[in-house]
Amino acid sequence: MSTTIVNIIYLIASVLFIFGLKGLTHPKTAVRGNLLGAVGMFLAVLVTLLDRNIVSFEIIAVGLIVGASIGVFLAVKIKMTDMPQLVGLFNGFGGAASVLVASAALIEVVLVTKTPAAQITIATVASGLIGSVTFWGSMVACGKLQGLVTDKPVRYKGEQFVKITLLLGCIVAGALIVTNPEAIHYYWILVALASVLGVMLVMPIGGADMPVVIALLNSYSGLAATATGFVLQNNVLIIAGSLVGASGIILTNIMCKAMNRSLANVLFGGFGEVDVIEDVDDIYAGKIKSTSPEEVAMLLESARKVLVVPGYGMAVAQAQHAVNELFNLLGAKGITMDFGIHPVAGRMPGHMNVLLAEADIPYDNLLEMDASNSLMGQIDVVIVIGANDVINPVARTDPKSPIAGMPIIDVDKAKTVVVIKRSLSPGFAGIHNPLFALDNTLMLFGDAKTMIQETVIAFKEA
Ligand code: NAP
Repeated sequence: MSTTIVNIIYLIASVLFIFGLKGLTHPKTAVRGNLLGAVGMFLAVLVTLLDRNIVSFEIIAVGLIVGASIGVFLAVKIKMTDMPQLVGLFNGFGGAASVLVASAALIEVVLVTKTPAAQITIATVASGLIGSVTFWGSMVACGKLQGLVTDKPVRYKGEQFVKITLLLGCIVAGALIVTNPEAIHYYWILVALASVLGVMLVMPIGGADMPVVIALLNSYSGLAATATGFVLQNNVLIIAGSLVGASGIILTNIMCKAMNRSLANVLFGGFGEVDVIEDVDDIYAGKIKSTSPEEVAMLLESARKVLVVPGYGMAVAQAQHAVNELFNLLGAKGITMDFGIHPVAGRMPGHMNVLLAEADIPYDNLLEMDASNSLMGQIDVVIVIGANDVINPVARTDPKSPIAGMPIIDVDKAKTVVVIKRSLSPGFAGIHNPLFALDNTLMLFGDAKTMIQETVIAFKEA
């Protein structure tokens, strides 16, 4: 196939990726965006296979069958709440693939030409370095989220010295490869040093911050793919890798902003190791009012506007379908039920949107945080379903709190707040929530799904 035709098809694929990403920015266009991206990837893969007859189609078919089987198995088996680990694993595999492909390309080029161009060797070094950091960093991040590695920040004296020494070691090994490409063993020394660096970079970060780290590693995996694109001189890989790199860093930035943290604070701050220092009795003793599904059903009967604020607990309980039943029931009685979505509710970006979409809640009823807050004065009943940090008023009132300054959904400003959770335990940030003790708050203790189901039954019987 002529290079011009290949590049034109790569260009079409790249344009489809960009329109695909644009589509993914809104739920209404997300399915179309996904399809456009998939068509772009199909074109890119097809043209690459037809253009480069290096590997036999039998071997490619075996790779496809093994890879697709593992992919289908994981997609079916993994629980929604374990999705961040899976995404981390995929990022890691992307990094590892870059390391292996770049090494194979370097060996091949060295065997054929002996003196590859500096562009190739520099790109190979970048692939090896970023790819290894991504793979091992992602493995540690997954291990922390899965409970296989301690989720406490692992700190020690001389930590920065160790990391800088490892980085310098990588740079020296990289320089040796560029000046002497035939000495391939330097590439593997670089990979070994970068692998240790990847582990050392993620170990000191608390498990609580892993979702942000995974978004950052996603960006790294894109950069590694871009570098491999330069090694293989494959334009579509350079463009696709850059898009992943840029979108990963944009997502990291959005997550940091929504938590009112800087990236430096996430990487070096040790968040998630906060000890609960307040005396629980000072906050809650004698002030907690429990309620029942029957009482909540009565409250809802006399309400005109209801706002549901979902959080991580809704995902754990898989309560979204029960919530949809309540939504339909209230809707049939002319009671409006909207959903206030905090950008970092749950454990991954868009977590709540995905769950509610799965339960067929119309997109038009999902309100962003600012829209929810501006409506709060008109809301009769807010039902908080397994959310905690994203509604904690301490973010506004206590400058010393780990969530100080984090924008929250101001549910405390509604007439009545019903909080569904199993106990008074803190959420992700490990801090107590004075909202539970406010005069206008009622606590409905129990599993979110069971409590919503019982409220639905009580509402039907009322
Ligand atoms: P949260 O603060 O972690 O609180 C979740 C609450 O759900 C817990 O207090 C828990 O209380 C309750 N819960 C757990 N299982 C439940 C069940 N089966 N039924 C009912 N309740 C249940 O969650 P959030 O308000 O959604 O806040 C998210 C936090 O994650 C924020 O601090 C955010 O910064 C952080 N974060 C989010 C992302 C993201 O991308 N979304 C990424 C990184 C970090 P009980 O144990 O008492 O039931």
